[in-house]
Amino acid sequence: MNLIFRNIINEFLNVIPMAIYDKMVNLKLVLPFYHSITDTPGAHIRNLEYFRSIINFKADVDFFKQNFNPLSISELSEPQKKKGFFISFDDGLSEIYHNAIPYLLEKKLTGAVFVNSDFIDNKALFYRHKVSLILEDLKTNPNEKRVAEFLNIKQESVKDAIWQSGYNETSKLDQVAEILGLSFRQYLDFYKPYLSSTQISEIQSNGFTIGNHSKDHPNFKNIPFEEQKNQVALTSKLLKENFNVETIYFSFPFGDDQLKKELFNYLFKEAEICLSFGVSGLKSDEFTRHLHRIPMEIGSLSADKIMKFECFKHLLRNMAGTNQINRRN
Ligand SMILES: [Zn+2]
Repeated sequence: MNLIFRNIINEFLNVIPMAIYDKMVNLKLVLPFYHSITDTPGAHIRNLEYFRSIINFKADVDFFKQNFNPLSISELSEPQKKKGFFISFDDGLSEIYHNAIPYLLEKKLTGAVFVNSDFIDNKALFYRHKVSLILEDLKTNPNEKRVAEFLNIKQESVKDAIWQSGYNETSKLDQVAEILGLSFRQYLDFYKPYLSSTQISEIQSNGFTIGNHSKDHPNFKNIPFEEQKNQVALTSKLLKENFNVETIYFSFPFGDDQLKKELFNYLFKEAEICLSFGVSGLKSDEFTRHLHRIPMEIGSLSADKIMKFECFKHLLRNMAGTNQINRRN
C-alpha cells in the first residue's frame, strides 16, 4: 500500500488509544518480527529494506513492554491461557547480536532467532543478499554493459533482471558478480553479515531460542515437496547436533503463501516442529500450531501505528470473514 495513503489512515486510527484496539480485536498473541537492527545497513540488505533503525527498535520494545505481557516461546503454544508478545528475528543476521539482543536483555526479555544453516559462520550468502550487493555495485561499476551482454538484454533492463533473479538463478548471480569483479567471498569475510556459531551459542545461553529458517532460504512455493522437506530436516539436524536444540521452531523463508496442507502435516508430525511462524500479521491459521507474526520493518512508522493498522485490518477482515487462512490440499 502507498505509504502516503497509509499515513493518512494512520493519523485517523491514531486518535483511539491502543487499549481500545486491544479490547476490540481481543489480541492474544502479538508477534513482532525483524531481520536486522541497524543504522548503517550493509550493502547486502541496503536494497531490500529489511531493517529497522536502533532507535525505532528500542522504541518498539518499550511500546510492546508497556502494552503487552512478555511471553516465553513455550507459552506461545497456549494462547488461551496467556496473552502477550514475543519478538523474533529471521535470517540470522549479525547486527542483531550487536544492536538488538543487548537491549532485549537489558529489558529482561528474550526472543527467537531463526537461522539458515548454510549461512551460519558466513559460509555462504543468501541469494537475495547477492541481489542487493550486485545492485549496490552497479551504482558505480562501469561494467554494466558487459553484464547486459552476458544476460543478452538491453543495458537499461539489467537492474530489473538482477532484482527479479530467483533462487534457481544463483549461479547466474555468481557469474554477474564475477564480471563486475565483485567478490561475495571477500564480502562475507570482511563484513560478516551472518551470526557465527560462537555468537549463536552466546545468544542461546542468554535464554534466546535458535530456530530453523531453512537451509538456504528458497521460496517454498517454488520448490517441490521433497526439497521443502530436505530444507527443514537438514537445518533441524544441524541445530540439534551443533547447538543441542531440543525443541525445533520453524519460520518460513518468504512466508507461507500458497503452501499446501501436506507440508504443514509433515512439519508437525514427521519433522516434529513444535510451532511454525508466518508473516501475515494478526491473521489466524487453520493449522493452530502455525502462528502469524507482524512485520515491523515499515519505514520509520512507530510500533503504535503499525499495531493500530494491523488491528484495523483485522477488524475489516472480521467483517469479511477472511481472518483465518485455510490451506489447500
Ligand atoms: Zn528470511
